[in-house]
Amino acid sequence: MLFTEDFLHYVWKFRLFDKSNLKTVDGEEIEIFSAGMHNTHSGPDFHNARIRIGDTTWAGNVEVHVPSSDWRKHDHTNDKAYNNVILHVVYRDDEPVILSDGRRMPTLELENRIPPELYNRFHSLVYGNQTIIPCEGSIGHVDDMTIRTWLTRVLIERLEKRAKTVIKALNNNRGDWEETFYQFLAANFGFKTNALPFELLAKSLPQNILAKHKNNPMQIEALVFGQAGFLEGDLIDEYPKKLKEEYSFLRKKYSLTPIDNHLWKFMRMRPQNFPTIRLAQFAALIVRSNHLFSKILDIREVKSLRDLFTEINVNPYWEDHYRFDVPSKPSSKNLGTSSIDVLLLNTLAVFLFSYGRHLQLEYYTSRSLKLLENLPAEENNIIANFGVLGVKAKNAFESQAVLELKNNYCNFKKCLHCGIGNKILADNKIYK
Ligand code: SF4
Repeated sequence: MLFTEDFLHYVWKFRLFDKSNLKTVDGEEIEIFSAGMHNTHSGPDFHNARIRIGDTTWAGNVEVHVPSSDWRKHDHTNDKAYNNVILHVVYRDDEPVILSDGRRMPTLELENRIPPELYNRFHSLVYGNQTIIPCEGSIGHVDDMTIRTWLTRVLIERLEKRAKTVIKALNNNRGDWEETFYQFLAANFGFKTNALPFELLAKSLPQNILAKHKNNPMQIEALVFGQAGFLEGDLIDEYPKKLKEEYSFLRKKYSLTPIDNHLWKFMRMRPQNFPTIRLAQFAALIVRSNHLFSKILDIREVKSLRDLFTEINVNPYWEDHYRFDVPSKPSSKNLGTSSIDVLLLNTLAVFLFSYGRHLQLEYYTSRSLKLLENLPAEENNIIANFGVLGVKAKNAFESQAVLELKNNYCNFKKCLHCGIGNKILADNKIYK
């Protein structure tokens, strides 16, 4: 059997070993009142355990290793973070751990205490044949409550990670929520392929400049297309020529430098998603509403949030163009429902959550979760595959959770850290 530290953490956390007549390797009696809180960051593996060793009840940390010699290899004796370790839990005690005061570290050896079938279950769950995820044969047998509870937990983890990125940007913007929101919204208007140039564009064109021209759509469009680098060189049609003229004046006025136009990608894209069309929509959104984030904080209805993006009108020039000076068949260029949903999901829900967490206003975090519950589930291979396995995402709340689960747990075989994996192992229901 090839034990990993992860497996030992799992065994210790749920106390899945033979607990009869527990003693340290030195023969002192052990009684576990609390195994402690699993710590997945640096420092000892479990915090705040309560354990009686001999006649003394200790409160402190627990460190877990496969061989006890790892304590020396990791140089824990000289690391203050490990001063409060009260018990060293090891699979095999291959060498004594001597502390700086000369005492031997109390050590519990689990080698003959772990039921072999527990390890076999773990091994066949995590390392068995798989085409989609390690537990693909078993997940369909797990009760709905366990699945939904775990999906909620991973969704919160996902939103918390995203909130950290938002707060970092907020700090760079000196606490300006509107500017930060504007930058993230711009990046999301790039829909993955053009996220970077959109983000650079927003950073090169602060919102306060746009706000000064909010009553002049032509100037807003000139600033957006000019900073995006689309107004360089010769242009033929009246509309881009006019934009170029406006931009050259505004560019001097605000000492602006456009971003590199080569960053924009058109290849393998449907014309409807061309960056020129996205920029036209973005400009139309700015024309329609500035201080968008304040508005979003005030709007409670999902429909009204959606209306913010539905009721924008791009310049009529784009009705029969996808690029400057290249006529095309007429078609509507307003944002489609699925694009609006992606913006609501990736920007609005994330910002409501970040705002609520940062200011400790639960009202906004709940609104973020409600918004996700009211948006349709995303459609992609991962969501479809989980659906085949019996985990059908009913809305964006669940599809976002499934993506987090797949990308940050299943892909790394973190089944021992997963509520679903723990349930499968505990119930001994592994199907292949
Ligand atoms: S991490 Fe969880 S959901 Fe993913 S394969 Fe393992 S047990 Fe299944």
